Amino acid sequence: MSHNFCYPGALHIHTTYSDGTGSFPQVIAAAQAAGLRWIIVTDHDTQEGAQYAGWHGGLLVIVGHEITPDHNHFLALNLDHVVSNQLAPQDFIDAVYAEGGFGIIAHPDEHVTSRYTEVYRWDDWCVDGPRERSGEAVGIELWNLMSDWAEHLTPRNRFLNFLWPKRGLRGPTRPTMIWWDQLNMAGKRTFGVGGVDAHALKHRLPWGEVEVFPYHWIFKTLTNYLLLETPLDRDPQRATEQVYSALQNGHSYFVNRLEGDAPGIIFEAQRGTHAAESYIPGEEVSLANGDLTIRADVGCKAALRLVRNGEVVARGRRRLRYVVTHPGIYRLEGRRHGRPWLYSNPIRVR
Ligand SMILES: [Zn+2]
Ligand SMILES: [Zn+2]
Repeated sequence: MSHNFCYPGALHIHTTYSDGTGSFPQVIAAAQAAGLRWIIVTDHDTQEGAQYAGWHGGLLVIVGHEITPDHNHFLALNLDHVVSNQLAPQDFIDAVYAEGGFGIIAHPDEHVTSRYTEVYRWDDWCVDGPRERSGEAVGIELWNLMSDWAEHLTPRNRFLNFLWPKRGLRGPTRPTMIWWDQLNMAGKRTFGVGGVDAHALKHRLPWGEVEVFPYHWIFKTLTNYLLLETPLDRDPQRATEQVYSALQNGHSYFVNRLEGDAPGIIFEAQRGTHAAESYIPGEEVSLANGDLTIRADVGCKAALRLVRNGEVVARGRRRLRYVVTHPGIYRLEGRRHGRPWLYSNPIRVR
């Protein structure tokens, strides 16, 4: 079956149940206005918002929580209760998976303190999933909008970066991308996501109160597009499982929509002249059964790079084509207007 349905959504969102400034109804309205089809709210150490889970018009709301010790934050999903933030990171990850949940390592490479965020980095990068991994997928928040923006604030650029926030964005850090490629090369199943870390914090500054950043604005930034075989089910439970499954399988890519939308891009490995077989991000394919070509088309002008095992092997503007001769972890990156824009999950070639 082919994955013909593409659903944009956002994850890593805080509400008034923790330190966000928006109520659930406000967050839901903002997500609907931004054209999202699903959101995952992860308040700090609470799932009080669970009563809002389900369909709200065309928007599916999913509620998890962010396990929030002093450092080492983890987005815990598919659980009906909160896991203690008093456990060591390896132990809380194990607890999440032992109970049938899964999760996402949040902002692993935070390293600068600003007035908006403390440093909440993931301390031990040897901890990358449950001890009993057995094929379980773990998410990595490759790009966290709030950390990226806040970490690049300086007294000099502060004013301009408030007015034009995208000036301050650098994209995923190099160590994060190297770590992610290495995990995938080692055969550890992961999926990469972009997180908004929406709080809409309000600050008093010399020129008045500012909101960093309003939900309706931040929901138009880092957007994860899920590739599905069938439309999201009207049954909220089943639709939630579809979202979880697409995430866990890496059937997704994310873009910063400030640089342009990207609904339904093409990034696939094809076999045969008539492309009878095609493989999308998150899928695995063997070279043994015949030649493969990787094809990308993002539908607009962008500087594309095809990355194999961490090395750029092909470039293109808007489109690219590459005949695969070696196994490896192949993923797509795109920049627009000179800024980071698109990141796909990899196609694994054996
Ligand atoms: Zn956090
Ligand atoms: Zn957070």
